[in-house]
Amino acid sequence: MAHQVTLIPGDGIGPEVADAAARAVDATGVKIDWERIELNAEIIGQRKEVLPQEVLDSLNRTGVGLKGPVGTPIGGGFTSVNVALRKRLDLFANVRPVRLLPGVKTRFADLKIDMVIFRENTEDLYSGLEHEIVKDVVTSLKVITRKASSRIADYAFKYAVSTQRRKVTAVHKANILKLADGLFLRCCREVAAQHTEIRYEEMIVDNTSMQLVMRPETFDILLTSNLYGDIISDLAAGLVGGLGIVPGANMGEKHAVFEAVHGSAPDIAGQGIANPTALTLSAVMMLIHLKEYEAANRLQAAVEKVYAEGKHTTRDVGGKSNTREFTDAVIGAL
Ligand code: NAD
Repeated sequence: MAHQVTLIPGDGIGPEVADAAARAVDATGVKIDWERIELNAEIIGQRKEVLPQEVLDSLNRTGVGLKGPVGTPIGGGFTSVNVALRKRLDLFANVRPVRLLPGVKTRFADLKIDMVIFRENTEDLYSGLEHEIVKDVVTSLKVITRKASSRIADYAFKYAVSTQRRKVTAVHKANILKLADGLFLRCCREVAAQHTEIRYEEMIVDNTSMQLVMRPETFDILLTSNLYGDIISDLAAGLVGGLGIVPGANMGEKHAVFEAVHGSAPDIAGQGIANPTALTLSAVMMLIHLKEYEAANRLQAAVEKVYAEGKHTTRDVGGKSNTREFTDAVIGAL
């Protein structure tokens, strides 16, 4: 039986990396019926709705998506499709494993960096509640609820237990946002108390940013709210070689949508040079979700082999190959 998966190529470099990742998945031999749904600025402009019904219909049918980035206009225009999708499908947990790949030259190549970021995905300053109260005075509402905070904490601790991780660091700004981040921390503490086998610590987000750069090897699981999670994900990506290699998953009760941390990278779109590793490793996470463990292991190993050999990597990680050459090498290594 083939798995049904919604493939959303997206915008910018999205179609380039989505085609590459889908090709690599097909090469594992796992049978996937890809239901390809276009979602980009042009379509959103034509439809005048951020989330066309066919995207939701497809994901409701398949339950699983592999998604490229979709750009969001800056300082105006339509609201984020990515945020809308996460909210509509209640994809509450954004899971982002950050690891060094063999042979990638970074400033931290001699350290063992292996952390997983759990970012709450449905609320916080992404509530979209912004108002201009009077001219030139704007408020943006940060919404934090017990339900969402406990749910992401529970998800992170259960992951920590099931994958034999040792420590969870809750990242916050409760010294200033005493009510909002105070509630987030209380929920984290309650969940931590149920999992005493996992070490639990708390760290203010500004200090966390410094510690991530000074001592990245000391982090294991980072548990945080939406905006801090977004920012520290890019910081953490920078530690291991950039956005081209860090995968991710948006997990809900009923749906799972796998997408890289990176955006649509308009500066390199259409040139065939984008690094498809991040979305390919997101597809590895998807194969695990589909219980295709053997194929997931083989695809992960193939990517690592191409990096270890270092002959077919893309420019963002210091190589000379383009998207297609890298993907061909991964398929060859399979
Ligand atoms: P970005 O992640 O698109 O790019 C940041 C930098 O990293 C750029 O220099 C880019 O060339 C590089 N980069 C990113 N992915 C790469 C890859 N796979 N290979 C090689 N280099 C890569 O961030 P941005 O420029 O701040 O945002 C561009 C657009 O993407 C914005 O409209 C933003 O809203 C959107 N965005 C979407 C998502 C999503 O769909 N989930 C996530 C983040 C940003």
